[in-house]
Amino acid sequence: MTSPYLDVAELLLKLKNCVVLTGAGISAESGIPTFRSKDGLWEKYDPMVYASIEVFRTNPSKYWQIRGDFIRNYDSYEPNAAHGALVELENLGIVRLVITQNIDGLHRKAGSRRVVEIHGSLREIICQRCDRTYLAPNIPGGDPPHCECGGVLKPNTVLFGEQLPTEALEAAIRESSRCRVMLVIGTSSVVYPAAHLPVVAKQHGAKIVEINIERTIPDADFIILDKAASAMTRLIEAIETLQRTSTE
Ligand code: NAD
Ligand code: ZN
Repeated sequence: MTSPYLDVAELLLKLKNCVVLTGAGISAESGIPTFRSKDGLWEKYDPMVYASIEVFRTNPSKYWQIRGDFIRNYDSYEPNAAHGALVELENLGIVRLVITQNIDGLHRKAGSRRVVEIHGSLREIICQRCDRTYLAPNIPGGDPPHCECGGVLKPNTVLFGEQLPTEALEAAIRESSRCRVMLVIGTSSVVYPAAHLPVVAKQHGAKIVEINIERTIPDADFIILDKAASAMTRLIEAIETLQRTSTE
């Protein structure tokens, strides 16, 4: 039996034109809890309540009170080997774009150049009255924090019940329909419309590779059941092995 790593490495080298879709699982090893992980935070606080636009509108403090638990100090989180591997794949001309559901900014921090953050970013805080933006960690104090104009500040992220930014979503759909391989890393594939992107890719003939500790896409062409950081490290090693043997 051949290793899935060598099979996927071969596929990536052959087809190139890869678009990556990432979810909270890729940042788990950077210490950021996923929504559906069993460790604490989201067992205590239901994201559908604490991260919903309806609740935010009526009681913004509810969000701001737990934001500190989710990402106490936004700047203290570092990308892990999986984010780094995607930068290498971009440098190799294999990865064309990273579409992420994550709001942690770690792909850009790792050095990925082409990133679409379809759920926005925690970096930006926006005034609901005048649209002025503040960049974390420089957020005015207060619970909830207010803009200089007196408006309530909201994270520039897509809360449950909110529409996705049109431009980012259109770009994500367009690029998904044009790729030949889609690498889907660490997403539970239940949050729409992100979960629809692999379907779009497959409909247009792309091969789907899933990397996760659980299987979430039943009709993926390849599945690597492992944590993102070790899986991506091994995948890069497999690509290097194939590149070496082809030049020997
Ligand atoms: P999710 O929490 O629903 O699912 C996480 C997935 O990652 C699961 O399928 C799990 O099996 C997998 N996973 C867990 N640890 C892993 C690891 N070490 N390696 C590989 N896979 C691992 O997350 P989702 O699918 O991204 O959807 C939830 C929503 O929550 C998204 O919209 C996202 O914006 C938001 N969210 C973001 C962050 C973040 O920015 N880091 C964190 C939590 C939630
Ligand atoms: Zn304002």
